[in-house]
Amino acid sequence: MTRVYDDDLEAGFATRAIHAGQRPEPLAGAIMTPVYLTSTYVQDALGENKGYEYARGKNPTREALERNVAALEGGRHGFAFSSGMGCVTAIMMLFKAGDHVVCSENMYGGVFRLFDKILQNFGLTFSWVDTRDPQRIADAMTPKTRLVFVETPSNPLMRITDLRAAADVAHRGGALLLVDNTFSSPYFQRPFQFGADMIYHSTTKYLNGHSDMIGGICVLNDDDLAARLQFNLNSAGTNPGPFDAWLALRGTKTLHLRMPRHDENGRQIAAWLVERLGEDKVIYPGLPSHPQHALAKRQMTGFGGMISVELGTKERANAVLSRCRLFSLAESLGGVESLISHPASMTHASVDPARRAQLGITEGLIRLSCGVEDVSDLLADLEHAFHVV
Ligand SMILES: *Cc1c(COP(=O)(O)O)cnc(C)c1O
Repeated sequence: MTRVYDDDLEAGFATRAIHAGQRPEPLAGAIMTPVYLTSTYVQDALGENKGYEYARGKNPTREALERNVAALEGGRHGFAFSSGMGCVTAIMMLFKAGDHVVCSENMYGGVFRLFDKILQNFGLTFSWVDTRDPQRIADAMTPKTRLVFVETPSNPLMRITDLRAAADVAHRGGALLLVDNTFSSPYFQRPFQFGADMIYHSTTKYLNGHSDMIGGICVLNDDDLAARLQFNLNSAGTNPGPFDAWLALRGTKTLHLRMPRHDENGRQIAAWLVERLGEDKVIYPGLPSHPQHALAKRQMTGFGGMISVELGTKERANAVLSRCRLFSLAESLGGVESLISHPASMTHASVDPARRAQLGITEGLIRLSCGVEDVSDLLADLEHAFHVV
């Protein structure tokens, strides 16, 4: 089981980002964690090994990443996975048929698809509610509720869930609170401070930050739950490869340098969009016009680079998307380069149209992931693209 080194929890965020979970390699003292490309480990004798038996269960490169991100979140245990979805799959295997889950109605489309199309077949039951209102969470709780699962800010509508209130409701009902912290990263939001029990990330996004791997990670504090999650990871084989773990670990070393720049660019671009389109068309938690701006300020220390914009029709959305040059048309987010996407036909295509409409994921909605380029160039690109609308 991967537990954070105790001394890693004491250093400042930047020091942890660079050093936590990593020790000089013992053979030559290499400062960088090696990529342990191995499937198995030679044993000294029957029943005697160095703590490693087979690489599905444990890999030292993966463990360095797990300790690193656990230390950034301020948690005791970390488990890295093949993807954010692999991580959610292993987490959901902690539960059994008959258990009930309350989750944010606007959550990542792939998570909704996993629950709706697959896990319901295994007897798990789900209530999707507007978790912006803690009372709705409370109303959905049943004696069988074991998990409250929130995504905040949510993708792509930037809805904010009050983490402290959600934790209180979950705990009063004997359930755990799981938080998808992908959009903020631990640099801007640390859900354990508000009572969360488990945090997960798609490391594909801000934690890696360079758009060159797919991965997921879960951080938690409870020793028994951690042992069960490690068991699921190994049993289901949802582990990452060591090179992907290494790439994510290289990414986290600069998280504290990248996030302020994403945030700065995000704020300037959001302000420009408001001026261009009006504040009711721009969804960014850092804007005073965001209906939950005060709550966002209470539980986040910055707002990052994710902005959604309502353009009214698919034609207008398409006109803007197709004129962007620096913002590349692509799914995903959180990399150093800026991306632009159309949630209804891309990340949320797996959510049926009626449900999308009900949530507000319209055909006219576009989503920007502001990278860390020169903001003047990004604004010039948008100036050109928005000229048509
Ligand atoms: C991308 C994403 C996921 C899924 O992660 P993968 O690494 O793509 O499997 C989950 N939640 C959010 C908020 C995401 O952006």
